[in-house]
Amino acid sequence: MTLPANGRMAVYDQPNGPFRLVGYPLRPPAAGEVLVRNRMATICRSDIHTWQGHRPGPCPGLLGHEIIGDIVALGEGVTEDMRGDSLGPGDRITWSEYFIPGSNYFSDVLDLPQKSRGVDKYGHMAATTAPHHHGGFGEYCYIVPRSWILRLPDVLTDAEATPLNCGVATMIAVTEAARIRIGQTVLIQGLGLLGLYGASIAKARGARAVIGLDSNAERRARACRFGVDLALDPDMEKNALLHQVHGLCRPEGPDGAIEVCGAT
Ligand SMILES: [Zn+2]
Repeated sequence: MTLPANGRMAVYDQPNGPFRLVGYPLRPPAAGEVLVRNRMATICRSDIHTWQGHRPGPCPGLLGHEIIGDIVALGEGVTEDMRGDSLGPGDRITWSEYFIPGSNYFSDVLDLPQKSRGVDKYGHMAATTAPHHHGGFGEYCYIVPRSWILRLPDVLTDAEATPLNCGVATMIAVTEAARIRIGQTVLIQGLGLLGLYGASIAKARGARAVIGLDSNAERRARACRFGVDLALDPDMEKNALLHQVHGLCRPEGPDGAIEVCGAT
């Protein structure tokens, strides 16, 4: 295996500051690691929030946590993914947004590994932190131990697969927690990416009607291609809005409501 000496990445030095390209050295993956050449990363809304300084982000910051990539090399001991499928160089994979320091109460007892003390996330660290390549806005990424890797089936395109580990995973968890069942009605506030996934997954779980609320007309139109049966503008007259929602959700309104607009 011959690696290039360096891999490039785009970093920013302060909130709202410009991005610049920097290179950091590459090394073979250590035991338990996987070195990936990134194929695609999204700009998640939370990347934008971090860059805008709405939440803390160390600088020089390397963003991008919805990532897929091709395996360049496997570190010692890594042979299969979280499902038991074999892993080898060239395989296209996704992986968990976060990695945890080890077995702990939050992961083992509460089944909330993402809340473990000492959790770290891809695309959330300073580029100066070794092994430097740990975000989507770069050419390479080291997947470190205590991450979860999934080999991607060919049926998914890159664009479909890239948001799996954040946007899709979030809405799978939300619709499970909301226990949306066959025949129910669901109201979704906010028709951005999370709202679209929420609508699609609610329908896949058997919801008979999904109502979406968003003040953006373009988003409302698009949502109707993703399982929303009725898209309404929340700024319309309140009684008319309630009348329309209740008209589709007899007898007593929506069985479940999902809030993903994020506006206070
Ligand atoms: Zn995200």
